[in-house]
Amino acid sequence: MNNIEEIKSRIDIVDLVSETVKLRRTGKNYIGFCPFHSNTHTPAFVVFPETGTWRCFGECNEGGDIFRFIMKKEGWDFPETLRYLAQKAGITLEPLTPKKIEEDAYEEKLRSILEEALIFFKYHLLQTNNGKSALSYLTEKRMLTAKTIEVFELGYAPNGWEEGLKHFLQKGYSEKELFDCGLITKRSDKEGYYDRFRNRIIFPIRDAGQRLCGFGARALASDDMPKYLNSPQTLLFDKSAILYGLDKARKPIRAADQAIIVEGYFDVIGLHQSGSQNAVSPMGTALTPVQMRMLKRYTRKIILALDPDSAGEKATLKGLEVARDTMDHSDDFVFNPRGLIRSEARLDADIRVCSLPDEKDPDEIALDDPEKWRGIVEQAKPIITHVIDTLTAGKDLEDPKTKSEIASKVVPLIKDVPNAVERDAYRQQLARVLHVDEQALFSISEVQYVSRDRSRRRKAEAEPANLETIASSEKNKIYNLEKHIILLLLSKPDMIYDLDRYLKKNDLPSITSSDIESGDMQVIFSLTEESLRQVDKDADEYISANLPEGLNGLQEEIEQVIHDGTTQDRILDDLARTLLTLRKTKINDKISNLMSLTQSDEENKQFAAEPEMQKELMEAIKMRLVVEKAQSSPFIGD
Ligand SMILES: [Zn+2]
Repeated sequence: MNNIEEIKSRIDIVDLVSETVKLRRTGKNYIGFCPFHSNTHTPAFVVFPETGTWRCFGECNEGGDIFRFIMKKEGWDFPETLRYLAQKAGITLEPLTPKKIEEDAYEEKLRSILEEALIFFKYHLLQTNNGKSALSYLTEKRMLTAKTIEVFELGYAPNGWEEGLKHFLQKGYSEKELFDCGLITKRSDKEGYYDRFRNRIIFPIRDAGQRLCGFGARALASDDMPKYLNSPQTLLFDKSAILYGLDKARKPIRAADQAIIVEGYFDVIGLHQSGSQNAVSPMGTALTPVQMRMLKRYTRKIILALDPDSAGEKATLKGLEVARDTMDHSDDFVFNPRGLIRSEARLDADIRVCSLPDEKDPDEIALDDPEKWRGIVEQAKPIITHVIDTLTAGKDLEDPKTKSEIASKVVPLIKDVPNAVERDAYRQQLARVLHVDEQALFSISEVQYVSRDRSRRRKAEAEPANLETIASSEKNKIYNLEKHIILLLLSKPDMIYDLDRYLKKNDLPSITSSDIESGDMQVIFSLTEESLRQVDKDADEYISANLPEGLNGLQEEIEQVIHDGTTQDRILDDLARTLLTLRKTKINDKISNLMSLTQSDEENKQFAAEPEMQKELMEAIKMRLVVEKAQSSPFIGD
């Protein structure tokens, strides 16, 4: 994807235009008053989210994409607009230097190698003896028709270590090129390379613009691990930004005004063959915000079809924790309710979950009985209802500990729902299911925020929190927030720069030691700052060498907060959120203190009336607004 495509895929035109034009939804499109000509009677300005374009049907009679909109609105030229939108999309622009032109040409070359590889794989599936068992697996075991195999361009990677390698070297490609497009892997024991895909069914993966980016592959031998293997991350293949099947599902999704998310290649293909052509699949990860934005161009209704394993309690609990990157386990789908609820709100999407009966995969059900499949999709439930149902299934709901355990998991999710009406409905639903008074259930909600902190959550799991222990931990709220910030910073000290950039963007002051009140945490904060000012050692080396006695146990706690595979963005996001919560908590304390001064005795009343006090109160209130505004706008990782 080039910069411009990337920007268009990341910025939603409805969001962008809504910054200046009040838009109203009509069917699939949005209308409003044209910002470019004066008219207050007929809304003649239409935004088409599907194509990412707008048009004024009135006086102006012109239209365009997001670039055209900003250029016209701001009167900027293209480079200026590009810089602006790139920054908005969080993309670093590389100037079109000779080097960049060369890189683009190299990408194109890699893509043409992939296209040739696809021909090689198709040939091996359809025209070699070795491909026969693969072909019969597809037609007999998976019940796929010749037409489907052709439409999805399925192939077979022969069972040898160097079949592909030799073939492509003969064609004149270099080992480097083959490696860079993910077709071969470096040998670990000696010099040289071997084929990445061997004795596997091959699924070409195309982006929404139908360009080939990489391959997915399923083992044919039952002892071949992993069962599913993708292309590695390459210049062309970034699996967090691609949905398998979207090239074919785009139009059907639009037509059905609904997208179905399944967990695997065969699900997408089987559903397609059975007549449900609006299915796509992420590749072994939870649905990412980038993928959601891609889908939202076609529909806002998204249905997750989770197989019983993923939808089961174990996976649901896993999903309630920090979503992990599962790069290396491509068949390990992560269901991440918290992330989904946030994205759902931010993108104004409608996400539902349907779970499948009988340990069957979507393709099996749909190929066997398309009507039954449609029935299952119609039964899809909102995410929180699904989580409540899953957590309560088979549990003794009279047991107070069970109740409190379930509440501690669901309450924070409900808190993330921004729509007050919906939130209320979920609160009532949870209270009803648990037979608990709604007030009691949600008086603990403030503290629940802190329990996003993993170390605390772990504790809560080991020893189910009851309402009493939650209440007593309120006292530690500030300390816990500060400690969480420090642990995150210790894990990567120079993230403080990213944090400051984020704060600046939101008109908030930089983080300083005055943000941290607890003495021990303040010491470590100052040490972190020092570590960045010195140049003799790596920052973390410097910190661990200078940690005061009694504080060195923190290193282990970092590992409880941050896991292997936790992405940089996610840590930064956590850091920013926690700092905002901390600041808001302190400002609220300050405001209520200043307010109470005016209500106490005569002496204090006078004091409170002092102009400085009034000024301080006003400033605190203003600062709280800035913090709240930042809290309600998109965070880093979203
Ligand atoms: Zn107009």
